[in-house]
Amino acid sequence: SSIPKIVILGAGYGGVLTSLRLQKELNYNEADVTLVNKHDYHYITTHLHMPAAGTDNPENARVNISKLIDEFKIDFVKSTVVQIRPQDRKVILEDGTLSYDYLIIGLGGEPETFGIPGLGEHAMNIRSINSVRLIREHIEYQFARFKREPHRTDYLTFVVGGAGFTGIEFIGELADRIPELCKQFDVDPSLVKIINIEAAPTALPGFDPELVEYAMQVLQKKGVTFRIGTAIKECTPDGVVVGDGEEIKSQTVIWTGGVRGNRLIEEAGFETMRGRVKVDEFLRAPGHENVYILGDNSLVFNPEGRPYPPTAQMAMQQGVNCAHNLVASIRNQPLKSYSFSNKGTVASLGKGEAIGVAFGKKYKGRMAAWLKKAIDIRYLFIIGGIPLVLRKGKFL
Ligand code: FAD
Repeated sequence: SSIPKIVILGAGYGGVLTSLRLQKELNYNEADVTLVNKHDYHYITTHLHMPAAGTDNPENARVNISKLIDEFKIDFVKSTVVQIRPQDRKVILEDGTLSYDYLIIGLGGEPETFGIPGLGEHAMNIRSINSVRLIREHIEYQFARFKREPHRTDYLTFVVGGAGFTGIEFIGELADRIPELCKQFDVDPSLVKIINIEAAPTALPGFDPELVEYAMQVLQKKGVTFRIGTAIKECTPDGVVVGDGEEIKSQTVIWTGGVRGNRLIEEAGFETMRGRVKVDEFLRAPGHENVYILGDNSLVFNPEGRPYPPTAQMAMQQGVNCAHNLVASIRNQPLKSYSFSNKGTVASLGKGEAIGVAFGKKYKGRMAAWLKKAIDIRYLFIIGGIPLVLRKGKFL
């Protein structure tokens, strides 16, 4: 048929926003839109630090895709993408093939281990519902094991690699969860260690230094030990080796130190930097007028020529812009260029504590925690309206 086929890969922040906008803006029979995702649910990645630490249920961080999209307007395919073939305009799924006229790649990032030996094998990552279920159960299991082998304090040592956004938000929750677990398993809280290891000279690089100082104080008061300016050299089944050979024994290493683009993109032959594509001003892959790349898979530069860190905020804005450009392409109208508009950033530090910058002002403590909640609720509203806010909002 002559109806253009649009295929969207990944129902993350970028893919969902693109889908929602397309279903709103496209007229009947103007395009065939297919959304492909590994699971039949979308996960709220920015909330995953809570179920990972066990301070919330993983159910509260996911939403069924059928509740978000209108299946009369968008075909949803639950499948895993195994290969992208831009030269043939095809996508190979684990169980079939799709052809497209326009392709949107929003498959999200993968952990970047920077070649550190053992990290890929022995460390866990906070990246999906499945991965946080594992972390949550693993942490509880260490307490149970310790009760049987009380000399093994490495069961009670929790190492978090990376003091970026994800690492900091996770240790805030973990520090809240530990006292509960100690009570539940009759463990002396003074035996538990949370160690955050960061190679950069500061935690939360890029954040306001005064707020970083505040965050570290809050977390230290909750019992977190920081090893800033310390590189993890190796991860083994027994723990990590840092700096000049010191070994930290731990049965739980969570790596949050880096994100790269999805491997399928470089395998498809797109030019990438750490798996991410430096997109053109319209969010397209250079040399591919019909391929848009969003979120953690895209690389967008600020006016000073430095790459923006990938965030949910950016992925959402890109989704809106991408949908606009798809509709414009189909209607032979001019495309709109994308520029990131920073609405602010808030990092939570556990219950009732956060730091952030928004509306050109700094926030910390309760006010920042409240802002975080407002941002999360706004997101639920954008993707699922009032019904979703009522169903999930109270848990955030
Ligand atoms: P994602 O949201 O990662 O979605 C990718 C989708 O693709 C997933 O649904 C996945 O299942 C699917 N997929 C992957 N591979 C395949 C495949 N082969 N086949 C089919 N489907 C596939 N950002 C902020 O702006 N603010 C925050 O407060 C914030 N907090 C964060 C806290 C944590 C704990 C973490 C981990 C991240 C946080 N981020 C935050 C970053 C933000 O979550 C990411 O930048 C954002 O999720 C990227 O969106 P995306 O659309 O690129 O992909």
